[in-house]
Amino acid sequence: MGLTNAMKLSLLRIAAGGQTFEHRYAPDELDVSAHAFTLNEPAHVSGRVKPSGQDFHVTGELETHVAISCDRCLRDLFIPVHETFKLVYVPANEARSSHGEREVSEQELDFVYLDGDELDPMLDIDQLTRDQLELALPTRILCRDDCRGLCAQCGADLNETTCQCAATVDPRWQALADLRNQND
Ligand SMILES: [Zn+2]
Ligand SMILES: [Zn+2]
Repeated sequence: MGLTNAMKLSLLRIAAGGQTFEHRYAPDELDVSAHAFTLNEPAHVSGRVKPSGQDFHVTGELETHVAISCDRCLRDLFIPVHETFKLVYVPANEARSSHGEREVSEQELDFVYLDGDELDPMLDIDQLTRDQLELALPTRILCRDDCRGLCAQCGADLNETTCQCAATVDPRWQALADLRNQND
């Protein structure tokens, strides 16, 4: 497969007809510490890399579940991910010399620049998988559309209980609390 331990695919020897890749990440195999989600079950990524001139077209799919907490009530959620992707990897040297003037003919495709050594360009499957996981998640993570969140005063889960804070709060402070909630 041409894969090294770090899940990088060398692009140097890819045949004109392309090459497939596939990996099943164990939950602790992929470092997602920079993200808000965690992986509790394996992530299965597979796809195909095909040279196109200087570039490489990558298509594939990703399947797993991620654990992430609700933006409002912080409840743990388990979100299924089934993402298909179409990417164009552009060699770093080409990107540097012609980025900005380059005509993007395939506008439905994302462009991702290959990092690192121009003499041995690599497709970083780890990074691809992390990026696709992030893209697969909605911008607002809610356990349900009308999640009532936590009371800003006492922390009570307002989906499950009602607290007395709202009833007793001075309306002038309520405006502040509302503002704070909006910013959350
Ligand atoms: Zn919630
Ligand atoms: Zn309260």
